[in-house]
Amino acid sequence: MTKKLLQQAARERPMLGDGAMGTQLMLAGLVQGNCGEEWNLSHPEKVLAIQRRYADAGSECIITNTFGGSAIMLGRHSQAGHAAAINKAGVEIARQAFGGRDGYVLGDIGPFGGLLAPFGEFTEDQVRSAFEEQAAALVEGGADAIIIETQTSLEELLIGIKAAQSAGAKCIIGSMAYDVTLDGSTFRTMMGIDPERAAEFMEENGAHIVALNCGTGMDMEHARIAVERYKQVTNLPVMVQPNAGKPRLENMKIVYDQTPEEMVKGLLPLLQAGANIVGACCGSTPEHIRAFRGVMDEFLKSREIEFRGAQRES
Ligand SMILES: [Zn+2]
Repeated sequence: MTKKLLQQAARERPMLGDGAMGTQLMLAGLVQGNCGEEWNLSHPEKVLAIQRRYADAGSECIITNTFGGSAIMLGRHSQAGHAAAINKAGVEIARQAFGGRDGYVLGDIGPFGGLLAPFGEFTEDQVRSAFEEQAAALVEGGADAIIIETQTSLEELLIGIKAAQSAGAKCIIGSMAYDVTLDGSTFRTMMGIDPERAAEFMEENGAHIVALNCGTGMDMEHARIAVERYKQVTNLPVMVQPNAGKPRLENMKIVYDQTPEEMVKGLLPLLQAGANIVGACCGSTPEHIRAFRGVMDEFLKSREIEFRGAQRES
């Protein structure tokens, strides 16, 4: 039996994503400011250990450790020449984390880390070729989907979507980082994009799943509101990865305060709003994902007939 596409599986019943990678890498000894993606080659066992904890906690979707894996980002660590190898290795490690069980590997493309010309130093061509190289390596490595994450501008998002398309990705996820406005009344990306506009844009341009991750102040409740706003303008499945609360500086280190118990309180409303894939972003841990698993299993049980029915139809 061929594996269902992620966008199909996610329509049939809600699925569980994974939690943070960056903060976990630092706990495993990565020095802040160093290149975590390079660990796919130099310390694969450490990356694997983190992702295995997520898989064991119940994650069905594991995101590769390739957030900063474009040649432009890697170039800041003199690793640009290893971009393809780092991305391929990232997919292999994430696949291994499932230990032979079914699961979806989401190949991660993060922002290139600058502004496009004329405001910034990189031309569209440079970003395109970096994203194309990364997407091709992720697809060649066997990723089930490409997620273009933490995006704030539609121009950069589009370059990512096109790169994923030209690499032949069967599932493309566009994920925006929103910031809650100062008065708390709404949220939009740093570049002023609101969720309705982002969702319409993604659908028009061929993304299969609309998503959000990270951002400022985007907790579980704001993620729920975003799910509702997305669903008002698109029928595509929705994926959310909120942060574990607001970042706070402690001894020059960024810390996130929301415990698994606090964060998981927001999960049921998110599922009731129709979120199709739920994971978590900065500050979350395998314990957060384990708590999510418990609530999601209860939710699935309570709606068993409905979800079974959906599976039969397909
Ligand atoms: Zn984050």
